[in-house]
Amino acid sequence: METFVTIEHALQIAQHTPIQYSTEWIQLRGANNRILAEDLSSKVDDPPFDNSAMDGWAVRSIDENRVEVGITPAGTPSTEIHQGEAIRIMTGAPIPKGADAIVIVEDGINGKAHTNFIRRRGENLRKGEITLTAGQVMTPATISLAATMGHETVPVCSKPRIAVISTGDELVTPGHELKEGQIYESNSYGLCALLEKIGCIPVYHKVVEDSLGGLRKALNSLDCDAILTSGGVSMGEFDYVRKLMEEEGDLHFWKVAMRPGGPPLFGTWNGTPLFGLPGNPVSSHLVFMMLVAPWLSPETPLTKTIRVRMKDPVKGAPGKVCFRRILISTDGDELVATTHTHQGSGNIHSMVAHNGVTVLPPDTDADAGDVITALWYQ
Ligand code: AMP
Ligand code: MG
Repeated sequence: METFVTIEHALQIAQHTPIQYSTEWIQLRGANNRILAEDLSSKVDDPPFDNSAMDGWAVRSIDENRVEVGITPAGTPSTEIHQGEAIRIMTGAPIPKGADAIVIVEDGINGKAHTNFIRRRGENLRKGEITLTAGQVMTPATISLAATMGHETVPVCSKPRIAVISTGDELVTPGHELKEGQIYESNSYGLCALLEKIGCIPVYHKVVEDSLGGLRKALNSLDCDAILTSGGVSMGEFDYVRKLMEEEGDLHFWKVAMRPGGPPLFGTWNGTPLFGLPGNPVSSHLVFMMLVAPWLSPETPLTKTIRVRMKDPVKGAPGKVCFRRILISTDGDELVATTHTHQGSGNIHSMVAHNGVTVLPPDTDADAGDVITALWYQ
């Protein structure tokens, strides 16, 4: 077990215990945002036949005077022309045998003959050519390409099922009255939504009280590919996730040099990977963005790294990378950032009032006017 590791090293440790993805074949229409599990090659040449790029006439470029002898709409078999003949042709229709050029409809039948208005068989793709590779995220454009290549179904990685368990005696689900000392449970809501965003299936488990027995029972009841817990990983008397993982699980790391989000842990419970996230709502959210998402789905990053000019000063953290919440906007050609709400790790509103975080290296503050690295999450 390692402790107080850098973010990069924490990710490396977690990556030694990856999720096992299986492959499923799904209808291409349902493939948006899914991760391709195998390379895809074209079943056909694209285009499959020489065809016209314009509406006009298919002609022989050497002819000067032409007579129209027929019409070829798109979707019909190819015809044939001889000396002095022209065929009315529509965009996408096959070029008649004997024709080597297109006269566009605007120019009239004896207008200029363009050889470059013929789209040649296979000029975009050759049959058997691989254009999409395993690991790529399916997007509207890749889906369209897969259809062009003749694929009705595609092999994609099965969505991993990730259990989400919040721990804490003080937590009450919204919809119930708060009694003294209680707060609304919010982390499981955010974590489930984050999981959906990166293509996983969240498996919600009801809040578990702070007890070794309750937690052990909950963990043993799960049927999932990985587990996310929230709360109970710090130094407190009742931080039972850490205690249980130390005593009965297999702990790989505990504590990461980041603020907020210092005390996360990673290990396995009966062979199932488990991320123990801190309970403070900003911390659990940021640890998910920095560690869990890159571990589960590196293809769908939740943040974009940018350089930004600070308009307000921001304080770093001793020995830790500091993620201050900032509001990023454009100012002319430049990205600039300000800070607004208070930055406590318990204040989830700070993640909503801002759209990014600083990436201040350990022991580094930034003054107004400094250009720093930041992560943009909206
Ligand atoms: P812990 O990590 O369990 O020590 O919790 C740290 C802080 O986060 C405490 O103030 C908890 O009340 C709060 N907290 C823990 N879990 C949640 C949760 N699921 N939703 C909202 N706040 C939480
Ligand atoms: Mg707690």
